[in-house]
Amino acid sequence: MHTTAVVIGAGQSGLAMSRCLSERSIDHVVLERNEVANSWRRERWDSLRLLTPNWQCRLPGRAYDGPDPDGFMTMPEVVDFIAEYAKLIAAPVVCDTTVTSVRNIGDEYAVTTDNGQWTCTTVVIASGAFNVTNVPPFADAVPSGMTTLTPMEYRNAEQLPAGRVMVVGASATGVQIAAELQDSGRDVVLSVGEHVRGPRMYRGKDIQWWMEVAGVLDERYDEVDDIVRARRVPSMQLAGSDDRATFDLNALTSKGVSLAGRLAGVHEGRAQFSGSLRNKCELADLKLGRLLNTIDEWATTNGLDDSVPPPHRFEPTIVDSSPPLGLDLNRGEIETIVWATGFRPDYSWLDVDVLDAKGAIRHDGGVVESPGMFLIGTPFLRRRKSSFIDGARADAEDLIGELTTYLDRCAAAKA
Ligand SMILES: Cc1cc2nc3c(=O)[nH]c(=O)nc-3n(C[C@H](O)[C@H](O)[C@H](O)COP(=O)(O)OP(=O)(O)OC[C@H]3O[C@@H](n4cnc5c(N)ncnc54)[C@H](O)[C@@H]3O)c2cc1C
Repeated sequence: MHTTAVVIGAGQSGLAMSRCLSERSIDHVVLERNEVANSWRRERWDSLRLLTPNWQCRLPGRAYDGPDPDGFMTMPEVVDFIAEYAKLIAAPVVCDTTVTSVRNIGDEYAVTTDNGQWTCTTVVIASGAFNVTNVPPFADAVPSGMTTLTPMEYRNAEQLPAGRVMVVGASATGVQIAAELQDSGRDVVLSVGEHVRGPRMYRGKDIQWWMEVAGVLDERYDEVDDIVRARRVPSMQLAGSDDRATFDLNALTSKGVSLAGRLAGVHEGRAQFSGSLRNKCELADLKLGRLLNTIDEWATTNGLDDSVPPPHRFEPTIVDSSPPLGLDLNRGEIETIVWATGFRPDYSWLDVDVLDAKGAIRHDGGVVESPGMFLIGTPFLRRRKSSFIDGARADAEDLIGELTTYLDRCAAAKA
């Protein structure tokens, strides 16, 4: 089969791209290994809700218009939102079709799947940035017999044996799972490395609102000093809940969660934590202060100071004077480990030479180093919000420009 564009993946990124392709009458297919919104259906835990408010769910041609703009969708609601979008835009999704290889054939691409082969002029990789969990190599040294889980395997607290849990990683996923497990009556130790602290509400508004209006979420990839580093920044410690609660480390320790430093290794059954906990927390406090300064400056410049509560600062993160440097995993001190140590994409099917030494695709704002290949949905692809639902729209609208220019060039070369 031949088509002009093959889009790989029917999450919000692939669908946003599909809508932009359809608008320009570019014939294409969206190949999806499972169903539309597969990651939201199958790879998230039961209680998860979006950490972005509903009003921020905007895709090309459709924005959230339900009764609760300031609420946070549950996973079934997100799935409905995305599945309805696919219908609305009549996306040409071919489900149950796993891409097993993409390779160059001349100046085109061959896309092989378990359901046939497509040839095409351009390929859009929208297969997700969070396909597999990043479990550290020393996880192999954890004593056998302990329960270990990744966030993709974790569904709810009932799944775990009774007893103390160590959650490794304190980004959005780690703090949410740690809080849920502590609330379930277990003792939780949270191993904390680099993290991004964020309050849910500031000066009477959601932090996402402030970050949007102050331009933080729209910051462009070619405007930041170190894009490689910016792309690795962990997710902000946020969660969506009816009470709009903050999920920073102070909120967790007040529930009874205890903190340890970054897990540096497991040696002879002993978990070894780095001594950097205080430094990491001070750094996160400092960066939060900088974000709030940016917000306050924006509020003053834009005349909001009289209409919202005055600026204030949050209490610094409270850290024990001597947090543990080790935990004996052989003595039953910990029953379960949850590896909330991040996610990464899976490009094992990509047979085009575009991966760097770390396995990331080499690209310039989504224009991949192989002519006619495009990427969407990865952290800070073109702007800070690129990997969010709300980032798909702006990025797809930019990338369709690049893609059509490429097709025009191909047509001109053939003429
Ligand atoms: C735990 C978690 C919570 C998040 N919470 C939020 C939030 O609150 N708000 C927000 O805006 N963003 C959130 N995100 C970030 C982001 O919005 C989601 O990761 C979202 O799923 C990304 O959409 P996507 O379309 O880029 O990728 P995905 O949704 O992952 O879609 C990729 C699709 O490609 C398919 N696919 C992959 N490989 C192949 C293949 N070889 N062949 C065929 N199909 C393939 C997959 O099945 C999948 O359907 C969260 C992410 C995670 C991990």
